[in-house]
Amino acid sequence: MNYLSSHNRNAAFQKAQNESFDLIIIGGGITGAGIALDAASRGLKTLLLEKNDFASGTSSRSTKLIHGGLRYLKQFEIALVREVGMERAIVHRLAPHLVVSEKMLLPLVEGGTYGRLATSFGLMIYDVLAGVESEDQRIMLNKDQTQRLEPLLDGEGLKGSGLYAEYRTDDARLTIEVIKTAAAYDAISLNYAEVTDFVYAEGKVTGVRFRDCLTGTSHTATSRYVISAAGPWVDKIRKKDGSLNGKRLHLTKGVHLVVPHEKLPVSQSIYFDVPDGRMIFAIPRGKVTYVGTTDTDYHDNLDHVITNQEDAEYLLEAVNHTFPSIELSLEDVDSSWAGLRPLIHEEGKSASELSRKDEIFLSPNGLISIAGGKLTGYRKMAEKVVDLVAKKMRKDQGRELPDCRTKGLILTGGAFKDADGVTAYKDEVFRNIQSLGLDMLDAEYLVSNYGNQANAIITAMKGMDDLNPYASMVRAEIQFCLENELVFSLLDFCSRRSGRLYFDIESLKSLQTVILSEFQQQLDWDESRLRKEREELELAVYEAQHFPPLKVMN
Ligand code: FAD
Repeated sequence: MNYLSSHNRNAAFQKAQNESFDLIIIGGGITGAGIALDAASRGLKTLLLEKNDFASGTSSRSTKLIHGGLRYLKQFEIALVREVGMERAIVHRLAPHLVVSEKMLLPLVEGGTYGRLATSFGLMIYDVLAGVESEDQRIMLNKDQTQRLEPLLDGEGLKGSGLYAEYRTDDARLTIEVIKTAAAYDAISLNYAEVTDFVYAEGKVTGVRFRDCLTGTSHTATSRYVISAAGPWVDKIRKKDGSLNGKRLHLTKGVHLVVPHEKLPVSQSIYFDVPDGRMIFAIPRGKVTYVGTTDTDYHDNLDHVITNQEDAEYLLEAVNHTFPSIELSLEDVDSSWAGLRPLIHEEGKSASELSRKDEIFLSPNGLISIAGGKLTGYRKMAEKVVDLVAKKMRKDQGRELPDCRTKGLILTGGAFKDADGVTAYKDEVFRNIQSLGLDMLDAEYLVSNYGNQANAIITAMKGMDDLNPYASMVRAEIQFCLENELVFSLLDFCSRRSGRLYFDIESLKSLQTVILSEFQQQLDWDESRLRKEREELELAVYEAQHFPPLKVMN
């Protein structure tokens, strides 16, 4: 049975409570998803429980880069730069449509973070640590070359730039594809399933109680081991277990703003200095450019993190300062997102000085918690924590687990020979949808989002008779996501599966009626459910475009 079909939810819940598991994972962000794939592919019977939608926490709110973290080099975190740097090429190979190589421009300015010599040397070290192929290694550009490449940059104070290799992705799609790949190894993953309590026997965790957040019913699941990968909520879970001692999380908020590409028509991704000494990114994606991020301490509601006016103005001022011909204002912002970094607290360090290293906490009751880290390092984090489970298994049961296999497990949708294979497939998709009235940008959207699963969407589209091809496309996408990606609300689809809330918010307005009626038909929603869903989506759109002053929020 396909337990990731939204229509099979009851069967998945039954399985979760009737069977006994080797491992239960709390949290369906990239960390939990990675652990589920690693564990299931080593033969562990695995259950993942997520209280909201998959990737609805930090894992849909990052800068969406699979990067080595140049700033960590500056902090001399050599091992971290090396590990995540090497990971980039691996994750690219596992999903070449979703983890796409992208050159990053680092302008060098008078009084900026990086000087020319230090940058040249630093980027060279960065390439060496990450094992970057020679043709992709950094090049240093003089002022003229830099301005030719990016005419929007201010000539005054510009000394040149470094151009180096990074990768961009879609964090939420990466999370869902990892979960789907884990399902191929029989991992069961449930969203809207909140762990409310632990079950203990002889002082050891032997399972969890969880609530079905859609129906309100309570369930119990049992397992030999429980891992909490609850991101910003890790300390709350440790508290439930009575094991919140020693090191704690330090949460910092990061915000991104999205503007139409024509308002900030950068020709490629840029990582640039801002007046307060920090650095931020501007990244073009389809019809938009997004900029971010901020890094401020956070002590508010973990379940509702929003962009305030101060965050938005900080980013706009930073952009306007670096690109003098650009005069962005709050009215230009199409969308935004805000997320929390679950960092490990270090006494006396400010938000941006804190290490991004991951850390494992072991409770006397056997609960294993993992926090910190990066999207980029999800596979290695999973390997580390499942190795720990393997060690415990050997000791407790004499059971031997195979070594980690995920380096060779291609993610769903990602079976392409290489990046050229993705380009050829995009062309094929374009030829296929052209006659329906769709264009190359649509082909790019379908392939970057769904990889070679775009075929299933196109086949469904061809059987539809909408006058507007975009209506058919979105209906076919919804049907695909309902059948394969446990979608239960408009926001699951509009935000985490399709990214439309961030990168094509206009389409949500123009296609709202079609989207609502497709969901209503497929999931049999009554009028009151329909109203609730519409209101939730409208609120999300409002919050993505409006930023309250700080004093109103507190
Ligand atoms: P989350 O994604 O938050 O997942 C934890 C999940 O646990 C949540 O979905 C939550 O709902 C669930 N949960 C909590 N309590 C319960 C419960 N009781 N029962 C069931 N489920 C529960 N990294 C990069 O590599 N590249 C970047 O470009 C990058 N940019 C970033 C920019 C910003 C602004 C931020 C904030 C982070 C960025 N990161 C980046 C870091 C990266 O996004 C995070 O390290 C990663 O997403 C954390 O994933 P996670 O699974 O640990 O946490």
